[in-house]
Amino acid sequence: MELWCTEKQTENLSLSFRLKETLRREKTAYQDLAVVDTLPYGRMLLLDGCVMTSEADEFVYHEMITHVPLFTHPCPRRALVIGGGDGGAIREILKHPSVEEAVLVEIDARVIEASKQFLPAISSALADPRCRVVVEDGIKHVKTARGRYDVIISDSTDPIGPAVGLFTEEFYRNVREALTEDGVFAAQTESPFLHARLIADVQRRIGAAFPITRLYLAAIPTYPSGLWSFTLGSKRHDPLQPRPCELETRYYTSALHRGAFQLPRFVEALAVAGEANGRPVGEAEAPRGGSGG
Ligand code: SAM
Repeated sequence: MELWCTEKQTENLSLSFRLKETLRREKTAYQDLAVVDTLPYGRMLLLDGCVMTSEADEFVYHEMITHVPLFTHPCPRRALVIGGGDGGAIREILKHPSVEEAVLVEIDARVIEASKQFLPAISSALADPRCRVVVEDGIKHVKTARGRYDVIISDSTDPIGPAVGLFTEEFYRNVREALTEDGVFAAQTESPFLHARLIADVQRRIGAAFPITRLYLAAIPTYPSGLWSFTLGSKRHDPLQPRPCELETRYYTSALHRGAFQLPRFVEALAVAGEANGRPVGEAEAPRGGSGG
């Protein structure tokens, strides 16, 4: 008998993965958590039926959400990841020799525990002495951390449940205050094909908080539509002039850093105008959600 896991991405779109086995399935205090071993993409973490990370393509997302803001900053010493319980962003941040402290603020301790148990290649850096793990709501954390971080990364789930507040203008203003005077912020901001209106709204909200706001893209096969966006907000340094990369990476390069900001015209319309032009392509009726295997 074949076993399949299906992610329902919109009312009319799903993506299925053939499974070797289900490694964990539990209802945490915040979400439905599943870890499965898939034939095409290796082990995979899903939350509320949405793919969070997979062994096969996690390096793309984790390198692009971290190295773009970190190489934009002249000398990042203290970084904050909000969400990111799988540990992949922390692993990439700690590759930077200038980083003295990487703080992970994850609301759900069960995500951290499951990632440590089943995804060691992604979560191993959580044990690094420079990493400090805080189980807390990231919305609350940034309200109290004034001028503390050189780089802040929002590595959150989709804007549903506890993550809704991570996509608001108030949150972005608090992130700005939690950054040093030349701090840099980056967030995962969903798919231009399926979430155009959200991207346009987020551009406007981050643009209201930061003098420099830029959208960039990466190809991530296990995420809805395979094309994923990130939005960077910077208080002083322009991401188009990054420091050169001397790190061991699998996706990120200095040339790709600059290239990722070269946008297809339909995405530029979202970034430049700060609002969707006309009816966006395949606008999702609601954020993704669905059933695990
Ligand atoms: N790369 C994934 C993506 O793009 O969807 C995100 C991975 S990471 C596992 C997302 C994490 O955000 C989850 O573990 C979730 O518990 C956490 N999260 C959601 N809302 C949060 C909040 N308000 N504060 C802290 N963590 C939050």
